Amino acid sequence: MEVYIIKGMSNSYLTSDGVLIDAGAKADNVIKTTKEHGIGIKYLFITHYHIDHIRYAWSIAKAFNCRVVASIPESAIIEGREKPRNAGLLQSLFSSMVRVKSVNVDIKVNDGEAIEGYRAVYAPGHTPGSTAYLKGDLLFSGDAVVERGGKPALPPRMFTLDVGKATESFNKLLSLRPRTIYPGHGSPISLGT
Ligand SMILES: [Zn+2]
Repeated sequence: MEVYIIKGMSNSYLTSDGVLIDAGAKADNVIKTTKEHGIGIKYLFITHYHIDHIRYAWSIAKAFNCRVVASIPESAIIEGREKPRNAGLLQSLFSSMVRVKSVNVDIKVNDGEAIEGYRAVYAPGHTPGSTAYLKGDLLFSGDAVVERGGKPALPPRMFTLDVGKATESFNKLLSLRPRTIYPGHGSPISLGT
């Protein structure tokens, strides 16, 4: 499986099996990348409700008519039916500046559930329903694991609701022994031997 990174407010990843992870890249850039590689998008997986990850979800879902996947605890927020409780600094700051068109979540995934071979792994802490997606030994981590200096790192404290839980989730994700981690920010991290 090929993975293409599309930079934006956060990284979006396009995979050759027709999945897009996160919607931080503009729909136009996503469309351009799909055309370059001859890939359609069947599913949009969302890792968490932070605006830099869902900013373009509505326009991407509309452009591709794809099914949107998100965790059960965050679906109502992503759909705009609920406001996040104790929104972090980032969320409060952005939501006062940017209006995001909310998107319908077609598939609300539980922990451990797999869609198209992508297993949802709940990784709470950064946000209460942060979710990573594992395909084989490739891990799409959202902000539960970010990249710093080429190595896996915890997300910045100031943008993380529960640092203790985020640390537990970080360790849990690394214990899955992924070969490559595709983080929400920074560059892909290769851990393979
Ligand atoms: Zn985040």
